[in-house]
Amino acid sequence: MIANRTMPVVDPSEAHFWCGGKEGRLLISRCQSCSEYIHPTGPICPACLSREIKPEAVSGKAVISTFTINYQAWFPDLEVPYVVAIVELEEQPSVRLMTNIVGCDLESVHIGMKVRVIFKQVDEIFLPLFEPEVTA
Ligand SMILES: [Zn+2]
Repeated sequence: MIANRTMPVVDPSEAHFWCGGKEGRLLISRCQSCSEYIHPTGPICPACLSREIKPEAVSGKAVISTFTINYQAWFPDLEVPYVVAIVELEEQPSVRLMTNIVGCDLESVHIGMKVRVIFKQVDEIFLPLFEPEVTA
């Protein structure tokens, strides 16, 4: 889980996802045959079985599908409470990312909330986190 700040072990096939933030881009694998976005990535498109899969930048806009507020400090350096959410990408709602919602009051977080990606650099990795698209 991203939230606990334990860094993911980056598989080479997923490097684009974890490092695209270096250029401010959220890169998601996309089938070059049928245009389906695929996340988590894999060698074969689940929609059309093509193997022509390449990372492509998406807008970074998403909608909160579900979320939970965590009040438990699992690690000493973890600030609580924080929001763990699953967001659906604007381009394709079936692409769902587990992430943290930052940059807003916990009380304002709700299902259907529009959010956009920001990146938090930790060593070589750029964690995709999300903040409200429009700050009220
Ligand atoms: Zn496909």
